[in-house]
Parts: sequence; structure tokens; C-alpha cells
Amino acid sequence: SLEVSDLSVSFAGLTSPVLAIGHLTIAAGERVAVTGGSGSGKSTFINMITGLDRAGTGSIRWNGSDITRLSETARDRWRAGHVGLVMQDFHLFPGLSAVDNVLLPARLARVADSAMIDRAHQLLSSVGLVRPGQKIETMSRGEMQRVAIARALLRQPGVIIADEPTASLDSSSGEAVATLLLDMAAAAKSTLIVVSHDPSLIGRLDRRLTLSAGRITADTAAKEQTR
Ligand code: ATP
Ligand code: MG
Repeated sequence: SLEVSDLSVSFAGLTSPVLAIGHLTIAAGERVAVTGGSGSGKSTFINMITGLDRAGTGSIRWNGSDITRLSETARDRWRAGHVGLVMQDFHLFPGLSAVDNVLLPARLARVADSAMIDRAHQLLSSVGLVRPGQKIETMSRGEMQRVAIARALLRQPGVIIADEPTASLDSSSGEAVATLLLDMAAAAKSTLIVVSHDPSLIGRLDRRLTLSAGRITADTAAKEQTR
């Protein structure tokens, strides 16, 4: 589970915090959409709960342990072991192929390729990428998005966090990627937290949090709002 308390993130020169959350709990296995306008704090929220950003005050507990209290090395290790992350700007490595990008985090964690390589190819084909050897820098945004999703799912993480995972995709590949994320989350009983404006994705999740000017202004069952 995730438990956020008294979280406040401010930047120099801004009069109000870009993120302010008094209390939020997300249960293990829950599937949550995060919505809100541009600049409402969605990516800041993702960066905080994954410990990528340590700006701000408050506590962020995953299964009881507060990641804000970990050293940077310990946080990186925790994230690599527990979180499958799809960043808004993908964070892929140019010069490497699609499949090498998918395998890179597992290689860094010293997982043998033999344990992962078939699954890496399967995931790339499930997201609809037909050229696993293609170099990242020659790909379209939609193709890069699929590589980032395959990478996040490789090690069946207990927590899957994705920032607008269908934003660069046409509606039919967006639908396919949404199905893949949901199926993978179901298979591993993962907690799923997805920033999205895509009604067909939001409507398939359990819960919807709406951010506005850094605050949670609505917390509802996802299906209520997306008819
Ligand atoms: P989008 O839908 O456009 O991706 P978002 O909801 O993800 O928007 P954030 O990226 O979280 O929004 O940004 C929230 C606010 O914080 C914005 O006003 C942004 O300008 C501001 N902000 C984010 N990072 C910084 C920073 N390092 N310094 C100053 N302001 C920042
Ligand atoms: Mg964003």
C-alpha cells in the first residue's frame, strides 16, 4: 500500500506549492487513475511517490516504510526492485536497440539475460513493436512509448506507475496498451497508478483522483465519471 501524509512540494519563486496532499492511501492491488489539467501536479506526484524527486516535505510510505528517509542509493535500489515506471518523457537510452532498452534495468540489477530475453521479446510484440533491434533514436514517439511500457513490465513489478502511457498512441494501439497494462497488473496483482486523460483507460480502473493546482479535488470510483 501507499500512504502519503502532509506532502508539500514547492519551488523557489512560486507562491503556492505545486503539490499539497494532506493524506492519501492507495491499497495494494488498487488501480488508480490520476487526472487533472496541464500543470496541476500530476508528474510531480509521480516523481514524488517513486522517490525520483526528493523536493518537498512529508512522508511517503510504501508498505509501511518511508522512502523519503532512504539514501539516494537505497531509494534507487527500492525503485528498481519494486516499481515498473513509464515516465512522461520515457527516459530511454539512444544508441541502444528497443530490446536492449527493455533489458537494461534487469541487466543493471544483474539478472541473467537468459531469464529475461524471451519475455522481453514477448512484451515488445504484445505492445505491437515489430522491430526489436531498431535503435531508439530512429523511433517515433509512439514506438518509444511502447518500448518504455515493455521495459516497465519486464520484471512483473508489484507497483506499476505510468505517466500518460497512451498519450502518443492512436486509439487502437492505445486500447491495446491499456489492455496490456491491465492484464499485467492483474497477473502480478500489482498496484497500478496511471496518469491519463484517456476515458477508455480511466473507465477500466477502480478509482480516479483529480488534481487541481496541486491539490486532490476529487477522489471517486473511476466508472462514475466516465460513462
Ligand atoms: P502536464 O499535464 O502538462 O504533464 P502536470 O500535471 O504533470 O502537467 P507538473 O509537471 O507536475 O504538471 O507540474 C506542476 C507545476 O509545477 C507546474 O506549474 C510546473 O511549472 C511546476 N514545476 C514542476 N517542476 C518544477 C521545477 N523544477 N521548478 C519550478 N516549477 C516546477
Ligand atoms: Mg506531466
